[in-house]
Order: sequence, then structure tokens, then C-alpha cells
Amino acid sequence: MKSLFKNSPKIAIILSILLLIAVFAFFVKKTNFLGSQITAFSKFVAETEAKTFDIRQNTLSKNRQPVKDIVIIGIDNVSHEYLTSYFGSWPLPRKVYADFIKYIEAQNPAAIGIDVLFVGSWHKNKENDLLLAETFKKYDNVFGAIYFDDYSLADRKPLKLPNSAEIKINSKSKIHPYNYKNLRELYPEFLESAQNLGHLNLERSKDGVIRTLPLFIEHQSKYYPNFALKILDKYNKNNSKTFEIDKNYNLIVSNKKIPILNTTEAVLNWYEINPLVRDSSFEFVSFKDVFEKMNSKQKNPDKNPFKDKIVLLGFTADSLSDLKTIPTTKLIPGVEIYATFISNAIDNSIIKKTTKPTDYTITILLVTLTLVLLFKIKNSWVNLFTTLAVSTIYIWLAFFVMKYFNLWIPIAVPVIAIVLSYIATLAIKYFFKSEDYDYIYKLATNDSLTGLYNHRFFQDQMKINLEYCKRYNSTFSLILIDIDKFKLFNDKYGHLIGDEVLRQVSQLLKSSIRKADIICRYGGEEITIILPHTSNDNAYILANKLCKIIGEHKFVVSKNLTVNVTISLGVSSYPDSATDVAKLIEIADKIMYNAKETGRNKVGNPDCIKDSET
Ligand code: GH3
Ligand code: MG
Ligand code: MG
Repeated sequence: MKSLFKNSPKIAIILSILLLIAVFAFFVKKTNFLGSQITAFSKFVAETEAKTFDIRQNTLSKNRQPVKDIVIIGIDNVSHEYLTSYFGSWPLPRKVYADFIKYIEAQNPAAIGIDVLFVGSWHKNKENDLLLAETFKKYDNVFGAIYFDDYSLADRKPLKLPNSAEIKINSKSKIHPYNYKNLRELYPEFLESAQNLGHLNLERSKDGVIRTLPLFIEHQSKYYPNFALKILDKYNKNNSKTFEIDKNYNLIVSNKKIPILNTTEAVLNWYEINPLVRDSSFEFVSFKDVFEKMNSKQKNPDKNPFKDKIVLLGFTADSLSDLKTIPTTKLIPGVEIYATFISNAIDNSIIKKTTKPTDYTITILLVTLTLVLLFKIKNSWVNLFTTLAVSTIYIWLAFFVMKYFNLWIPIAVPVIAIVLSYIATLAIKYFFKSEDYDYIYKLATNDSLTGLYNHRFFQDQMKINLEYCKRYNSTFSLILIDIDKFKLFNDKYGHLIGDEVLRQVSQLLKSSIRKADIICRYGGEEITIILPHTSNDNAYILANKLCKIIGEHKFVVSKNLTVNVTISLGVSSYPDSATDVAKLIEIADKIMYNAKETGRNKVGNPDCIKDSET
């Protein structure tokens, strides 16, 4: 392992960390350990992602205009007040809706959508109800609404819808439309135009915001289309009974591909709406104005404002519309949401959300890029800047991809992954820095041939020991060792074998002394040993022992070559021999020479110092 780390330490560390993460992830998944934390984290990530979508939408919607073919006729605050006093009560008699349909139909609209639930409980005037039902039946481009839910209220039950309301789906992808048990009760005559009914169900994300429109609802194992999808289909001059979904989750409507989620929801691309004045970005007409024109006999035939238009009638008054929250505003009437879908579908701007495998690929690529950059860059400030730059550039990219390709690529997971990569890199770099320090320290203090400390370290340690002993009135000794006749040895066996013996002598000496003793290569074939807290007598005992150990050792230098070497040694001690470093070395050297002069393979006689001084 150690050698692997030495050769390619960064790759080895990264691989080990990735392996650890993989093992940990596998363990977490298998044992459901951290189950609730993981759920909470994925919820946090999903909600953050949704918020990044909202921010993108808020900016992009400022420049987006819906198609001109849609007109919303709103029963707004003014209309509500006016009509309540006109009829003396609310809701409106159903004759008003019948008249409205006739009035608009006279102008040849592409389609009319009535975003009003004609529920059974409104049953007040049978004659009016029949008139509305008759009017609905008369035109094949008028669309009405049904609403599914799971409430167990008295008026909610699984309704038997006529087969004509049902839609077949021919899907090459696995789909899971929302499934509802019950249906809001309808007034029965209305069901006779069932082929022109679509559901008004909307689905809120967990944070209450509506970002999508479910195109199909499942009810009693049958599929029912969204009201807006029926209108779109009619606008395209079709009356489809079967819809195709291709293997890339595109719903085919009149040869156009509408990207959907596996829940069959379309992710909507919003337009800016001013919530204060409920100022729609769609062409908007107050129902009061239409109502007044309807009732005035002098209709102007030159002005057919609804010709070829999709006309959507809906409640926009605060008290009538149940207001919804979308990414760009907190208060929007439902009719705007259906209008948004139709407009998006007509100008091909439904948002496509990338699939999980694509999201993972993007994340892995970004993490790899970040890691490569961070490992190449040494400066930690530049590192931080790089992390911020990669994240920012990616966020901008995500923004432009939505702007120009109507594509929703993830931001939350990739950016979290980039930040985690940065933190991991910091940790790894910190680890390597300490490894580097160890390595540099070793380079600076060790001798590469023998593995002993080097001359510089020896000199430093001599000074430190001297200072220490002076301060604490202690003692230390020095042994100086020189291999005998090593020049001859080299001449005889060659320098390579000389090196090997020098290495073996060093290791043998090192293993024969205490851990606290400091053994250094003084130079050439000379070795010094500093012996802290050791008296001159004890140093002599050790020196003699070492002389004997080396002299008797058989050094195996190659397969069939065993050699012997001997050493000569000199000993000096603080404070007995001298009180400064240079003098201590000089005395040990002299005594060692005394050993050489008197036959080698021995410790020199300290008396030689006195002799030379006298
Ligand atoms: P003596 O000390 O017994 O008087 O004889 P010597 O031959 O050892 O003499 P001296 O100490 O003057 O010579 C040192 C020799 O040691 C010179 C050189 O050939 C050898 N030597 C020094 N350093 C190394 C080394 O790192 N590797 C090898 N192979 N030989 C070295
Ligand atoms: Mg020598
Ligand atoms: Mg020598």
C-alpha cells in the first residue's frame, strides 16, 4: 500500500475515497441505515431544485409572450358584482352560458373552453339546464369540465362516465398518471356531450406550487384527458380518441411532440402575470363587456374578435376563482394555467426535464472537471474561486439551456456535488501536505545510502544536546566510528559491494543501540553516535560492544560472498572530555586514530589525549 501511495499517491487516494463512498452508499441502501435523514435530504434537494426552476422561470417569463390565438374571458371582480346585481343572485342562470356559447360560436372560434364546473348541486332551473346541455351538444368545439378527487363527501362518488369521455393511450414508456377514486357530481344532461369533457385537475408540488399540468387522469382503470389537451387537439383540427407516447416520454399531438413526465404531467413554461391587477399576459376580456354586447341587439358584424381564437371562459374574480400559486406568482386563476399549457404546446415551449441518468452524467462530469481543476491548482484562494466559477458558469448554462432549449437541467444536485468535491479536495490536499512535510523533513535530515541521519542533523543534535546538558547539568557522550581499511576493501570488491557493506554496518549499529541514541553518517565510511544521558564509562562499554558485534558479523553481500569488516572507535563525553562541539568531535577523532595506530578493530585509548597534551 505504502509503495502504491508513493508512486501515484493522488490517484490512489481518490480511488480509495471513491471506493469508501461506494461501499458506504451500498451499506446505507441495503440496511436503510440513515433512512429518515436520507429522505429528509432528498426532500431538501428536490425542493431546492424546484426553487431553482422558479428562479429561472421568474427571470425568463419577463420576456415571454403567449401565442396570440388564445383569449381569456374572465368573470372578474367587476363582472361578478355587475352580474350579481343584474340577476339578483349568484350563481348565474345556465342560460347565460348557453347564450355566451351561441354568441361566440357566431364568430367561428377555433374552440371554446368553459372552465366552470356544472355540478349537480347547482340544479335550480331545469329549463335552463336543458338549454345549456342542448347548446353544448350542438357544437363540437365547445369543451366542458369534470373534476376528479379522492374526497368521501356525499356528492363525490365513482361516476359512470360515458365511454365517449375516455381516451386510450398507446405508450411506449411506462406511465403512472394520477389515479382518483371519485368524481365531482355533474348534472346528468351534461354527460351527453361527454366527448367534449376534459378534467380540470391540477397537481401541486409538495411546497404547494403548481409547476405542471397532468394531461391524463386514471379513474377506474380508464384514462381521461385534460380539458386543455382536448382544446389543443381541437385547435389542431383533430378529435383524437387515442394518444401516442413515444419511448422518450413525448406525447404526440398532431405530429408535435410534447415532452411529459412519467406521471403524464407537462412542465409549464410560464408567462409573467402581474398579481396585483390580475393583469394576464394573455389577451383578456372582461365577461361584463361580452355580456353587454351579447344583450345589445346592435351587434357589430365587422368586428369578430373571437374568429379562429381559442376562447377560454373562467372565473378570475378573487371571491370566485380558487387562486393558485405558480413559480411566477402567488395568485393565479386556474384558467390561466390551462391557457399557459395550450400556448406552450402551440409554440413548442413545454419544458423538457432531463432524466435521472442524464442528471447523474452531468453531475459526474462536473465533479470530475472540478476535481481535475482543483488538483492542478495549488493556491487555495484560486481553488475557492475556481469552485465558485464552475458553479456560477454551470448555473448560467442551466439558465440559458432553459431559455433557448426549454430544457430543465438540474442545478441543486450538481452544485451540491461541486461544493462537496471542493471540501473533499481541501481534506485530501491537507492530508498530502502533511505527507509532503514528512517527506521533505526526511530528505533534509537523512542520508540516502545508509538511512542514518546526515551530517547536518548530527551537528544540530550535538548543539542541542550540549545546550541541554549545560542547562540541566547533565552528561552525554559521542562515539566516532571509522571502518578499517575500507579503501582496500573497495579496491578488492568494488564500490557497489563497499556500499552494501556500509549500509549493513549502519543498520547493524542502529539495531544495536537504544532508540534514544542518535546515529548519523558523519561522512564517507565514518559514523557517529550521540548518546544522551550517557557517561564516558558507559559510552566505552557500548563502544567496545559495537566493535565486537561488527568484527564478529558475517556480512552477506551476494549469494556466495560473505565478508568481514572491522571498525575503529573513539569516544568523548560532555563535560569530562570537552565543553564545546568542535572539541568533543576532535577528541573522539583523536582517540579513534589512536585505535587505528594501535592495530585497529578496537576502541582508542583516552590516555592518548593526555599524552598529546603533555
Ligand atoms: P583506515 O580507515 O583503516 O585507515 O583505512 P581506510 O582505507 O578506511 O582509509 P580512509 O578512512 O582514509 O579511507 C576512506 C575510504 O572509504 C575511501 C573510500 O574508498 C571509502 N569510502 C568512503 N565513503 C564510501 C562510500 O560511500 N562507499 C564506498 N564504497 N566506499 C566509501
Ligand atoms: Mg575514514
Ligand atoms: Mg577507514
